[in-house]
Amino acid sequence: MQNPENPAAESKTSFSQSLLAWFDTYGRKNLPWKQNPTLYRIWVSEIMLQQTQVATVIPYYQRFIHRFPNLPSLANASVDEVLGLWTGLGYYARARNLHRAAQLAWRNYGNELPHTLEAFIELPGIGRSTAGAILALALGQRHPILDGNVKRVLVRQQAINIWPGHPQIKKQLWQQAEDLLPVTRIADYTQAIMDLGAIICTRHRPSCLYCPVKETCQAYIQGSPNNYPQPRPRKSLPLRTTVMLMLLNSQKEVLLERRPPTGIWGGLWSFPECPTQTEPTSWCQETFNCTIENIQMWPLVRHSFTHFTLEIHPIVAQIDQKREQIMESEGRIWYKGVEVMNQLGLPAPILRLLEQLYKE
Ligand code: SF4
Repeated sequence: MQNPENPAAESKTSFSQSLLAWFDTYGRKNLPWKQNPTLYRIWVSEIMLQQTQVATVIPYYQRFIHRFPNLPSLANASVDEVLGLWTGLGYYARARNLHRAAQLAWRNYGNELPHTLEAFIELPGIGRSTAGAILALALGQRHPILDGNVKRVLVRQQAINIWPGHPQIKKQLWQQAEDLLPVTRIADYTQAIMDLGAIICTRHRPSCLYCPVKETCQAYIQGSPNNYPQPRPRKSLPLRTTVMLMLLNSQKEVLLERRPPTGIWGGLWSFPECPTQTEPTSWCQETFNCTIENIQMWPLVRHSFTHFTLEIHPIVAQIDQKREQIMESEGRIWYKGVEVMNQLGLPAPILRLLEQLYKE
């Protein structure tokens, strides 16, 4: 219905209606978490989808839900098993938080996830946008969302030429996201705006001609959607260096240690790290009371984190067979090769080094 007295309100309604009409024809309705979309299944999918594309998530989601079909099964699992099923998906803090959140919810809400935005945000690893998306998609509650895809759509709609992470712009975008919410069909609208950002309003070369909301898009009207959003003001990433020792015993097993629960790759399994200024042979002697031989330096491996770049110098060495004294313990195991790869949480670069080691 036309509302000539309030053109702003009319334009907001037309945005959501155009988006919903597009979703009815082109939206992604067959995603595995949309079949029987319980709060638990939507929660797992939304955590996996943080920083990761749908096509990558689907097989991980299916394996995860098969093993942990409900909250109690996840809450009662070991963190190693959860991390094992997450291996390769990256951003492992998500898996640890998911596991911790399951335990908290199981304890505090009696086998169920909470049903309010405030309580959801209290759980580890869940911000306002993720909580809003979960409750909107699973329960149809009326909450705005502002993930990366939605942010890009809204920034382009208004042609905002300031980095959207700026606190004032962020506030403005949240307000806009809230103003655009329709009164009904919240779950569909939420999926629709996420799909629009993922399929049409992509970061590079958006398909504006197929966009259902191009009439209101200032970036499109200006002919310059690729100029938005503005990038974060540049800061060069610091570099950290580490030496990783791939110590082999006479059974061709390699030593792995569990990393501390916090910090990079918290709780995952990795190789022992020797301080960069220390000579590996004497470090092994001092740390493990063993000598090493057949030392080989492998090519440098670089891995980027959000706040720094890690340079790994891998070294393969054979432990003196007469003195295999390094015992397995709580945080230390002899890794038995590729067949157990899914049973441990391994960071992607460590997994690649292991694959390389066992290929040789
Ligand atoms: S018209 Fe283009 S830039 Fe604007 S919202 Fe649609 S796809 Fe994005």
